[in-house]
Amino acid sequence: MKKVVKFGGSSLADAEHFAKVGDIIRSDRDRCYVVPSAPGKRVSGDTKVTDLLYACDDLASEGKDYAGVLREIRGRYEDIIKGLSLTLDLSDEFATIDANLKKKAGRDYAASRGEYLNGIVMANYLGYDFIDAAEVIFFDEKGDFDADRTNEVLGGRLKNAENAVIPGFYGAMPDGRVKTFSRGGSDITGAIVARAAHADVYENWTDVSGFLVADPRIIKHPRKIETITYLELRELAYMGASVLHEDSIFPVRKEGIPINIRNTNDPEDDGTWIVESTAKKSRYTITGIAGKKGFCSVSIAKDMMNAEVGFVRKVLQAFEDQDISIEHVPSGIDTMTVFVHEDEFISKEQAVVSGIYRLAKPDVLEIESGLALIAVVGRGMKSTRGTAGRIFSALAHARINVRMIDQGSSELNVIIGVDNDDFERAIEAIYAIFVETQI
Ligand code: ASP
Repeated sequence: MKKVVKFGGSSLADAEHFAKVGDIIRSDRDRCYVVPSAPGKRVSGDTKVTDLLYACDDLASEGKDYAGVLREIRGRYEDIIKGLSLTLDLSDEFATIDANLKKKAGRDYAASRGEYLNGIVMANYLGYDFIDAAEVIFFDEKGDFDADRTNEVLGGRLKNAENAVIPGFYGAMPDGRVKTFSRGGSDITGAIVARAAHADVYENWTDVSGFLVADPRIIKHPRKIETITYLELRELAYMGASVLHEDSIFPVRKEGIPINIRNTNDPEDDGTWIVESTAKKSRYTITGIAGKKGFCSVSIAKDMMNAEVGFVRKVLQAFEDQDISIEHVPSGIDTMTVFVHEDEFISKEQAVVSGIYRLAKPDVLEIESGLALIAVVGRGMKSTRGTAGRIFSALAHARINVRMIDQGSSELNVIIGVDNDDFERAIEAIYAIFVETQI
């Protein structure tokens, strides 16, 4: 077995966490490739090393003195090195970073040093090889990730390294300049390494025991999701549930490699498995609930709309002309409604309305704001009778008015629109009917 293990910033914030991570890696010989993030927050209110590095770069590019911030960063690594009783000296590394910051090496270069230095410390601590991500992870001229070249070069390097540490978050442009992924991008590096190594599993270690059935800010101590498919995850992530960087799914999904989300502070917990497909059923019929506030609806009615060829296209054209993306389009016989993000829509609303009148000539047009959308997601729904019935009776009992219903043709989710003010209560009611009744 070959496992690629990625550790997030909160798992590597200080020496104590590093030691826990070391125990986790050493407890399983299959954990052969390690992808670290930069040290994160030690306590709430603390600053992540990546943010300190961005601050350094801001000061450097304004020609201001950044020595104090760089010293603070160095202190973070010195504390880890000392706490682990390592004899590693980062003086040369910091001298190079300082010189490059003076030369204005760029924001991405600055930010990437958090992972780079943490990779060096981790490799030293574990006695693993260190592979600089700039030598094995590539972007093309346009700045897009170059999957083919990366897979070839990285795959070749890993063949010759039994155990290695590859820092997360960055790679190199064709001219050698360092470029980072977007924030949280070490998750992507982990997936890329898992693909190149033909790993059996990509373990993503963080500070929670996986995905939860609902947002813990709304539901107290929600149940954990044991197994979730990539498609279910995509639906939930789109609706705001987050644990993993979205772009980290593609490289492993392509190879059928499962992702296992694990908790560094509770290594015995099996976490959540993210898989392509599974015969395992969720205990609760549904897999998860997620939602977002802040939507507007534009409802349009026109007699004989159903008989007018191209009507829907004309309406949607009015949104496209204003570069507004559309969330959902539930429709009736002579009515249709378009759901959009309020913040994208409001400044362009009158241009959209006049576009609709010009293109589609509706009889009635009505705009409403302050709506929330909730996705109830579950692969088990298509083979279970009465799921929609249970959702709506739970909402009715909680005296919540349902403003919109949309069931995707995949029968993987039901999307419900409610007033912003009813959002939390609606999630509580749905969670109660599916999960609490099963406990
Ligand atoms: N250190 C980077 C960030 O804070 C990347 C990561 O942690 O994945 O976004």
